[in-house]
Amino acid sequence: MQIEKTARRLVAVMPVDGEQRLGSAELLAATATLSTDFGGAFEAVFVGKSPEDDWAAKAGEAGATITWLARHPELGSTDSTDRLVSACHEALEAAGLVSGDQALVLCAAGPGGEEVAARLAIRFGGVPLGRCADITCAAGSVSVRRAAFGGRAELHLSSTKGPWFAAVRGGKRVPESTETARSSRVERLELVSPLPPIAPSRHTRTAGSSTALAGARIIVAGGRGMGGETGFALLQELSDEMGAALAGSLPTIDAGWAPVSAQVGQSGKYVTPETYVAIGISGTPQHLAGVGPESRIVAINSDPEAEIFKVADVGVVAKWEELLPALIKKLRATAKTDLTTAAGR
Ligand SMILES: Cc1cc2nc3c(=O)[nH]c(=O)nc-3n(C[C@H](O)[C@H](O)[C@H](O)COP(=O)(O)OP(=O)(O)OC[C@H]3O[C@@H](n4cnc5c(N)ncnc54)[C@H](O)[C@@H]3O)c2cc1C
Repeated sequence: MQIEKTARRLVAVMPVDGEQRLGSAELLAATATLSTDFGGAFEAVFVGKSPEDDWAAKAGEAGATITWLARHPELGSTDSTDRLVSACHEALEAAGLVSGDQALVLCAAGPGGEEVAARLAIRFGGVPLGRCADITCAAGSVSVRRAAFGGRAELHLSSTKGPWFAAVRGGKRVPESTETARSSRVERLELVSPLPPIAPSRHTRTAGSSTALAGARIIVAGGRGMGGETGFALLQELSDEMGAALAGSLPTIDAGWAPVSAQVGQSGKYVTPETYVAIGISGTPQHLAGVGPESRIVAINSDPEAEIFKVADVGVVAKWEELLPALIKKLRATAKTDLTTAAGR
């Protein structure tokens, strides 16, 4: 199928199966915001085993001018980055992207999206821009701002040779616009190229591992207020009981209480769980920059004036030392009762 080639393109690419779907709605919103630099036009490419028409509707509501629904029968819900990169590459090629294009391609921020963006840049001979805090586009150039050296420095990059590939944090969902929804064109792509084989699963649950953070529905995050490794050991117990992933603020990583891969924030991971439980975290902008706008925040802090309470959906003023042991006990008792009830059925 022939597509119209425009001089400049803005394209959001989103694998939409399994954990990867997280962040897609926010990426659409962020792309829509950036599209003012592209005359209001942008394209959305959804890649999956069977991307639903729902996605096309969401893209239309966000203002996408063209929505590409790219189906690859071999994709599943737990695909490796290798497989996602191959499928996204084929989808973008089928959508007309070629080396040398003045096109900006966006992926959702987060460990998966950042790697996909970087590897796509290599495949298209383009420029990998990394995870960007701010992007501005003028005719023939793209300028970005991004954190470096664990957030201790800021890089300002400019490039005149596309295509450019960047991971961006989500924006707020945009209100529905029936006018743009009506003018959005939907194209279906059947992907056929063989994907790399599925590697044998070696999934282990590691505290704060990036895999755990990437797709977690619940994240329990500790801050400097946890006081040390003992506090973090208790947080680990809590997150185990809740089936949550464990994260930390920058000072806890610097202190070695949690692994570097568990850092959330401006210079750490961008996460989009349904619920983010922040304990002993003050709620600085640099930390909150790592939490998706749709996540519900539950904050536990001993200081009633802590900034985190201004953004929390649920706030508990308490010392963790007093609250967590009782909470863990309660969760264990509930789990035991559930098991006994199930066994008695
Ligand atoms: C360029 C740059 C990038 C940065 N990137 C990041 C980043 O990616 N991620 C990040 O987290 N930070 C980042 N920071 C650091 C950030 O500015 C803050 O220093 C950091 O977020 C504070 O972490 P915190 O909330 O754990 O600690 P604090 O601000 O010290 O807060 C500790 C909180 O614990 C509470 N508390 C104390 N005792 C208890 C108790 N017993 N029970 C309950 N609550 C208690 C206190 O009331 C307080 O609110 C960055 C800074 C810069 C300049």
